[in-house]
Amino acid sequence: MIQQTLVLIKPDGLKKSLTGNVLTRLSETKLDIVAAKIVKVSKELAAEHYRELKGKPFFDDLLKYLMGEYHKKKVMALVYYGEDAIDKVRKICGATNPEEADAVSIRGAYGRITTKGVYENVIHASANMTEAEREIKLWFQPDEIIEKPYPTKTQKATLEKRVWA
Ligand code: UDP
Ligand code: MG
Repeated sequence: MIQQTLVLIKPDGLKKSLTGNVLTRLSETKLDIVAAKIVKVSKELAAEHYRELKGKPFFDDLLKYLMGEYHKKKVMALVYYGEDAIDKVRKICGATNPEEADAVSIRGAYGRITTKGVYENVIHASANMTEAEREIKLWFQPDEIIEKPYPTKTQKATLEKRVWA
C-alpha cells in the first residue's frame, strides 16, 4: 500500500552531525522524500506531537528534548512517500529503547538513555497510518509537500505574514 510517513531527525541527531548518516540509511528504503525543512520546535508543537504520552514520568523531559534544550534548538522534519513507507522507515529506525534496538538500526547505532531516563534515540517515525496523518498535518502545510497526501481546500487569508524585505 502506498503510504506517507513523518520523520523527525531529533535535536541529538543534529547536534551529533548525524543528518547525513540518517538520510543515507533511510535511502535504503528507496522511498521518495516529498517534504523537508528545519524547524525550531515550540513547547506547544512538542506537546501536541507527543500528546499521547502526557502523564508519563518522562513527559516534561521529553518535551525539552524535542525542543532542543539539551542539544540544538532544531529538528529536521521530512515526509517519506511510497510502498509500505511506515513499516520500512520504522524498521530502519529500530526499537524505541536504544539499548534494545538492533545494533545496525539507527537507534541501536546512535541512541542513548540519559540519566533522567529519556531515550535520546535520534529519530522519530510515525507508527501507523492514523498517526502519520495527524503528524504530517501538524508539521507541514499542504504547499510544503510535493505529493498532497490528504484532501486540501483553499481559504482566503487575511493574516499578516513575513516576506523578504
Ligand atoms: N520515550 C522515553 N522513554 C520511554 C518511552 C519513550 O524517553 O520509556 C521517548 C523516546 O524518545 C520515544 C518517544 O518518547 O522515541 C516517543 O515514545 P513512543 O512510545 O511513541 O516511541 P516511538 O514511536 O518513538 O518508537
Ligand atoms: Mg510513537
